[in-house]
Formats: sequence, structure tokens, C-alpha cells
Amino acid sequence: MTDVLHLTGTVVLDDEREVGEAWVVGGRLTFERPQGATTTSVAGWVLPGLVDVHCHLGLAGDGAVDAATTERQAVADRDSGVLLVRDAGSPADTSWVHARPDLPRLLRAGHHLARPRRYLRHYGLELEDVRDLPGAVHHEAVRGDGWVKLVADWIDRGLPGGGDLAPLWPSDVLAAAVRAAHDAGARVTAHTFSTEALDPLLDAGVDGLEHATGATPAQVERIATLGVPVTATLLQVAQFDAIAAQGADRYPRFAARMRAMGERRHAHVRDLHDAGVRVLVGTDAGGTIGHGRIADEAAELVAAGLPAHDVVAAASWRTREWLGVDGIAEGASADVVVYDRDPRRDVTALAEPSAVVLRGTRYR
Ligand SMILES: [Zn+2]
Repeated sequence: MTDVLHLTGTVVLDDEREVGEAWVVGGRLTFERPQGATTTSVAGWVLPGLVDVHCHLGLAGDGAVDAATTERQAVADRDSGVLLVRDAGSPADTSWVHARPDLPRLLRAGHHLARPRRYLRHYGLELEDVRDLPGAVHHEAVRGDGWVKLVADWIDRGLPGGGDLAPLWPSDVLAAAVRAAHDAGARVTAHTFSTEALDPLLDAGVDGLEHATGATPAQVERIATLGVPVTATLLQVAQFDAIAAQGADRYPRFAARMRAMGERRHAHVRDLHDAGVRVLVGTDAGGTIGHGRIADEAAELVAAGLPAHDVVAAASWRTREWLGVDGIAEGASADVVVYDRDPRRDVTALAEPSAVVLRGTRYR
């Protein structure tokens, strides 16, 4: 007799489909009742495991962290219901996480690609010569799990009119870099705060945008038309005011811009959503933000005016599909999270999963 987990209640497969029950047998999901098994039941709203599409394993405020710390980060993600992480850049080699069945599935983007003095210290691979970007992208594409992370803009402290956000890469270099990733079978996402970096990224054919706080109305339309998803990272953008305060004396232009974008953050994601842009849920944990805060990020998106249904879908089945990872399906790995109430109606439910099941093992 095998031990079987019986999931009952409302099992959400996607936007259209729900079923009343499913079973976990040998780490996999099935919709067929197993014969002669002892079952343990879990009842509630059963969703495909959550996805944090922008966090950083192996990274903390001062750069790379050791394996024990990385493990604690991954466990915090898992216990929050996040069973799939698209890492958005890490200075640590976290490929060992793949061999750990108790830790979330991980799609690594490799190192952030940046330039000296043009990103946070100890975070990225800093290229002295911008022309080295396509080669570095190829290297990261081969080393990672299908994604490459570019830092597209940051403060340039030496600008003639005073320090301000500015693009890191010439447009032709950016285009060659995105081609290099695509040729290696990888997709590219880019950190961008400024207005100036956006059109060259879109021209280059980038596959995702992180933050995108500087998007003008015309750029929002362009992002929508091209079908490029944007990770809103509202927990991070809420810190723009503090970032502005640090640089206010020396870099007033930069500070004013950061403050304005921080204040507009809810209107910004509403504009994206209203234009039809796919808004993704990412905590940006593993820097200044702690891991395990997907419920807080989702609640912020709802506070900004996005429908809870869309936020929950983006934090679960829709983004799993976009990343090419199974949700709840016959024979799929049993990676599910269960709630006592429907998070599509009340997003605060995400903060209180009643069960987290990863690869068939229950963790809470
Ligand atoms: Zn980040």
C-alpha cells in the first residue's frame, strides 16, 4: 500500500479550469483515484506552486553569501509557497540547488552583467569594455538555466549636468548581446529604472523588463504591443525614496527622479496593466529585501489596483507556463500550495498557506 495525498476542494488548473480533487502518488499528480492506497486528505484551494520571478539566491546586501545562507533563503521562499524561482542574477554559483529536492525549482540567470561603478558593488560581473557584452552574455547563457540578466541603466555619477540615471550600453552592443543570448537558446531580462534605456532594450528584442519605472505612456504602449512582460517589484520601488535620500546632496537630479518614480509606483503598474502588459510578481529578495515575501508583493500589486485574480494567476499558473514549467497536470511533479480561502478573491490568503507540497513532500 502506498501513502497518497488526496487534495480536495477547489483545485485550480488555470484561468478557465478547476477540478474538485487530485492525488499525489510517488511525487506526481494524478486525477485518477489510486486503488488500494491509504490517503491523507488536504482540503482547500489548491494552486500550482507560486513563482517568484525576480529574486536572488546566494546574494545579500554586500554580495555573495555562503551555501548555508543561500539554503535559508531558498527555504524561506519554499515555506512562503514559492516553489519555482527565476533567479534574476547572482554572484554565487547556486547550481547545487538543482540537486536538492527540498528546495524550490530554480532557473538561474547567472551573473548580473554590468560595468565598473555602474551597479551595486560585488553584485555583478563588471565589464571594463562595453564591447565585451555579447561574449559575456553568451558565457552566462551557456552557464545559466535559460535566462541572462543585464543591468541596462544605473546612476552615472560623472554626467556633465550632475549624476543621473543613464544607460550602460550603446544600442548596437545591446542588440548584439540579445542576439548572442537568443542564439544560445536563452532569454534576456534587463534591470531598468530610466526612460532612456527602454527603447534600445525593446529595439534589441529583450524578453523581459525588471522595474521599468521610467516608462512613458508611449513606451507602455510599445511594451504592450511587443508583449514584453514587466516585473513590477513594488517592494523594491517603495525604497526609491530612501535611495533618493542617500544621494540627495551630491546628486539632486538623480534623487528627484528616483523620488518621483517611487511616488508614482502604483499608477505605474496600473498603467501597465490597463495597457495589457503582463505584470509579473517578483519580490527582488536577496539584496536589501528578505526572502519569502511573495504575499507582500502580491498584496502591493492589489493595493495598486490590479485585480487579485490577475495577480494570483501571475504568481502561479500563468508564469509557470510562460517559464515552461508544468502547473497542475496529469503526471506533473506535485508542486502545489493550499489555502483555507480563495486568494483570487482575497489576496491576503497568500500569506497563510495551509499546506506546501514540493515534489510530493509536504513541508507545512
Ligand atoms: Zn533584483
